Amino acid sequence: MSTTTDTKYVYRFGNGRSEGNRHQKSLLGGKGANLNEMSGIGLPIPPGYTITTEACRYYVDHDGDWPAGMETQVQDGIQHLEEAMDRRFGDPENPLLVSVRSGAALSMPGMMDTVLNLGINDKVAAGFADATGNERLAYDAYRRFIDMFGDVVVGIDRSRFENAITKLKEERGVESDVELTAADLRDLVDRYKAIYRKATGRMFPDDPYKQLHLAINAVFGSWTNDRAVRYRQINDITGLKGTAVNVQAMVYGNMSNNSATGVCFTRDPGTGENDLYGEFLVNAQGEDVVAGIRTPRDISEMQKLMPSIYDELQEVCDHLEEHYGDMQDLEFTVEEGTLYILQTRDGKRTGPAALTIATDMVDEGLVNKDHAVKKLVEPGHLEQLLHPQFETGVDYEDDVLGEGLPASPGAAVGRVVFTAEDAENWNDDGEDVILVRVETSPEDVGGMDAAEGILTSRGGMTSHAAVVARGWGKPCVAGCDDIVVNYDQKSFTNGEITVQEGDWISINGSTGEVVLGKQPLRDPELSGEFSRFMSWADEFRTMAVRTNADTGPDAHQALDFGAEGIGLCRTEHMFFGEERITEMRRMILSESADEEQAALEALLPYQRTDFADIFRAMDGHPVTIRLLDPPLHEFLPDANADGEVEELAEQLDLAPEVIREKLRSHEEFNPMLGHRGCRLGVTQPAITQMQARALFEAALDVQAEGVDVQPEVMVPLVSTVGEFRHQKQVIEDTVNTVFETRNDSVDYQIGTMIEVPRAALQADQIATIADFFSFGTNDLTQMTFGYSRDDAGTFLPHYVETEILEKDPFQALDRNGVGELVEMGTERGRSAAPGLKVGICGEHGGEPSSVYFCYEADLDYVSCSPYRVPVARLAAAQAALVNAEKNEPTAPPSGNGAAA
Ligand code: ADP
Ligand code: MG
Ligand code: MG
Repeated sequence: MSTTTDTKYVYRFGNGRSEGNRHQKSLLGGKGANLNEMSGIGLPIPPGYTITTEACRYYVDHDGDWPAGMETQVQDGIQHLEEAMDRRFGDPENPLLVSVRSGAALSMPGMMDTVLNLGINDKVAAGFADATGNERLAYDAYRRFIDMFGDVVVGIDRSRFENAITKLKEERGVESDVELTAADLRDLVDRYKAIYRKATGRMFPDDPYKQLHLAINAVFGSWTNDRAVRYRQINDITGLKGTAVNVQAMVYGNMSNNSATGVCFTRDPGTGENDLYGEFLVNAQGEDVVAGIRTPRDISEMQKLMPSIYDELQEVCDHLEEHYGDMQDLEFTVEEGTLYILQTRDGKRTGPAALTIATDMVDEGLVNKDHAVKKLVEPGHLEQLLHPQFETGVDYEDDVLGEGLPASPGAAVGRVVFTAEDAENWNDDGEDVILVRVETSPEDVGGMDAAEGILTSRGGMTSHAAVVARGWGKPCVAGCDDIVVNYDQKSFTNGEITVQEGDWISINGSTGEVVLGKQPLRDPELSGEFSRFMSWADEFRTMAVRTNADTGPDAHQALDFGAEGIGLCRTEHMFFGEERITEMRRMILSESADEEQAALEALLPYQRTDFADIFRAMDGHPVTIRLLDPPLHEFLPDANADGEVEELAEQLDLAPEVIREKLRSHEEFNPMLGHRGCRLGVTQPAITQMQARALFEAALDVQAEGVDVQPEVMVPLVSTVGEFRHQKQVIEDTVNTVFETRNDSVDYQIGTMIEVPRAALQADQIATIADFFSFGTNDLTQMTFGYSRDDAGTFLPHYVETEILEKDPFQALDRNGVGELVEMGTERGRSAAPGLKVGICGEHGGEPSSVYFCYEADLDYVSCSPYRVPVARLAAAQAALVNAEKNEPTAPPSGNGAAA
């Protein structure tokens, strides 16, 4: 950075003008950029100036020095304020007081707080009292200043000041601060100064410029304090220069009963209703509202109390919404009947509110549809809308048992059970249950399915419980270490409270809360606003969105959410269930081809029925069916589990010892890198044949019913073109036999997963004989990083915490490594087969930043679990809109007034 005296470090605003604007957040911070903007469009903003984040950067890099030229600009800035306010800094006759406010590009708790009333000292306080005729105001401002300056600039423990005021109130026999007289407050100022002297060994600084200098330095310095650094780490905030500092003329909400201060949203952030929503306090200064010293009043009361101010505030809100094209969250102060705006920003809101605000603002003509789609609803907001939620307005704070990870959104209510078996049995008896486990494993899926929701005391966002629950759209709170699960007692405790089997609890998988008792739930509302908004998103979207679904009901659900096909139908789940699993085991453990064939024949009708259900559900949409993928031992019982082995032995009419021996022979050291995927189909082509036959017989059956069937057969885990050629041949031979036997046919495609890095490298070879590619980014991530997803929980969180990894690559697609393979595979594939259809079917397909990436990589579709489909639709639409914007000439930023 150049640091000549010409560099501009100070941007002034006030009196309807400004030197900066809202597009300069990285230079002026969010607060500063918006103060400049608001001043530029003529809103009533107390004049002030913003010191840039670049100045902060210099300060941090140069051991606390200011860059050359900044000192003068800061002084000139004060002069600007003096002229604008017709008051003078440090002048007892007609004093100007200022606030010093921090503000980085992103809001960041942990940095220095605001100092109000700076520029005051004994003489100024006396003059201020004279000038305003309000001695109480002057000494109240003075004592607050010493308190805030002492706390935030010098680091004196705030409780020391609190104790002093409490003691004074006791001495005077009064309850509240407002009952203290001007003389009391003057007394308090002396006591505060003594505290300051004792704590620092120095006199309280009288010189306003010295106060200003120290306060600016304290804001700059707070950028690198532990709390702020830690906050940026946790929240993945990198690449910011520093914090800006705003110096602004004080206005007084505590001047009289015709003065007030408050905060307000331009619309209700909980419901989206178009009414001012907020709180205010009469005769109070800004921080009183937040500090909770007095109970603020609802903003609606202002309409009666200060009608003309209320109208003015409403006008400002309308103006801001029109200008920003979004709901705003603002701070205001009324000084003797004059309204001032002190801050604005885009307001945070719930999912339902986001949708209502977006559709209302379009209807009101404030924004157009593309703006609403691009800016007013976040993809994550939609997830809140698809599931039941806790009813709003119900206070359950006292019943919260603990908080875990919000692993799968939605709320659920049920009676507590501790085993998967109990969950199934209770559910059969018509009970709603919540399955509570330390962790879950694949054996628990039946019980997980039967439960309304799942709660675990251990495990992260990619734990088994979390992944399975998200896939099904079932609410799940994972890793809630506030509770201790005791399987023997069938209970869990959170310290004081013990929850027994059968007790009712409620979980909120969107927030991670676990609540005792039955919370009232609110059902999702998918028609109306939701479908209207989603249809707008679809207008701008260019990339298709499919779903990962294994059953007819899941497929229907996904269609309701707007899926345009199935991108991944896993066939392995079809082999579970009482009779199926026995035949599957018979097939796996068979010793002759005849035996194997007989078992496969028995399995075939099940598969055919399942495929037929899915084809019917997806009438007119493509269905990608993946051939058997997991290692076979996943279908077998544990060799050491006594009961199960005996049971299987009886079913297969073999000795238990024989079964045990066979089970041992199927064990693998690294099953995920072992005998699975197309490797099974290559060594046991009968499996592929059976699956292909079931698939195409189902396709012809359903087609005969008049359904438009579009099957796409997908071969998993291919790493060489030879594997794919082999499997393709087996499939084609089977298809031809089916077509001949039936004297009928159907159009179909045969393609492959790209999930082994070698396949991405060999994509041009494979593409010459494949109809489509689908990136399986779960395995591709595992194999590119060499991380076992099932074991990564021991080190991945640490990697993310220490920023060795920016994000968990199993949650958000790793653009640099895995992403490069996706791009390369797509390019190489299309170089050999122009127009090759390419999609992605890993869990990433429903994660917004990964969807953006897929759009940029020019994929034809993403595929994700049913409940993520709307998320992916919106993310894909936003990606298209952002891209369109990039290719437009940039419009000149608005609201950029001339220099003040
Ligand atoms: P935060 O980021 O914590 O909201 P702010 O800088 O917005 O900090 O200030 C804290 C409080 O002080 C707010 O209520 C704000 O309205 C009030 N405040 C800040 N500057 C002034 C000022 N110049 N005049 C009156 N009140 C102010
Ligand atoms: Mg703050
Ligand atoms: Mg604020």
